[in-house]
Amino acid sequence: MNEDNLLALRDVSYTYDGEDGQRVPVLQGVDFTIQKGSFVSVLGHNGSGKSTMAKLMNALLLPEGGTVLISGMDTKDGELLWEIRRHVGMVFQNPDNQIVGATVEDDVAFGLENMGVDPKEMRVRIDEALVSVGMDSYLQAQPHRLSGGQKQRVAIAGIMAMRPSVIILDEATAMLDPQGRMEVLNLARQLNRDEGLTIINITHFPEEAIYSDKVIVMNAGEVLMEGKPSEVFNEVDRLKQVGLDVPFAVRLRHALHSKGIDLPFVLHQEELVEHVCK
Ligand code: ADP
Repeated sequence: MNEDNLLALRDVSYTYDGEDGQRVPVLQGVDFTIQKGSFVSVLGHNGSGKSTMAKLMNALLLPEGGTVLISGMDTKDGELLWEIRRHVGMVFQNPDNQIVGATVEDDVAFGLENMGVDPKEMRVRIDEALVSVGMDSYLQAQPHRLSGGQKQRVAIAGIMAMRPSVIILDEATAMLDPQGRMEVLNLARQLNRDEGLTIINITHFPEEAIYSDKVIVMNAGEVLMEGKPSEVFNEVDRLKQVGLDVPFAVRLRHALHSKGIDLPFVLHQEELVEHVCK
């Protein structure tokens, strides 16, 4: 395996047991690679298999067919389970389900205590993690008094303290208000840029995928498309056919094109405003 490839799914399939005893296939032939240090978005609407894929990526689920490799470690190897879990941190949708400590400090300490990290080292890691998510002045705060965005940042600090190689945000912004969404997304971008952390942002908001190195589009349990945001979002009709939206700037350009007005292809609203005002 190329050492730049942090994560690889090779022809992965997965099936759930349905209520009527039928087997329900939810992933088929999923095959992609994620490079170390990259920011990847997985885009797809509800039920397309994104969460199932996220769980396969940190061995919460094991593939039925194919292989999932994390830094060359096969998730099916039971002896590597805890090493894999330490490598791959997950942040889920509901911030309230992830907070376990009575204070922010206790919460970040929780995972480290489970890992048996010694108290001196723990102190260093907690402080570092809270600085990196910008929550160091909330050490003694009660998590339930924080905003949704702040709670997600504390959840991310808990993961950072375990020194992972990749953080998967599984719809981690979906329950937040616009400010909270920006807070979490900006933090993810900062951790990627400044600390070289690999980020996988699972989302159904196309606007969030603009900032990625790569977008993987899921539809009905399969990878529909994979590429740079500019490549993927240029395929407006193909995405529309499967009920997926594109960023606002692309949508507007597409609508104006049908009225005979041609604008350059841009993904950011700000750039679009600049072009229109020229
Ligand atoms: P997404 O994250 O894109 O919304 P999921 O991976 O959660 O997609 O779900 C994919 C499909 O698998 C959906 O049809 C969902 O109903 C089904 N599914 C998810 N979890 C289970 C489960 N525990 N048991 C049975 N079916 C499930």
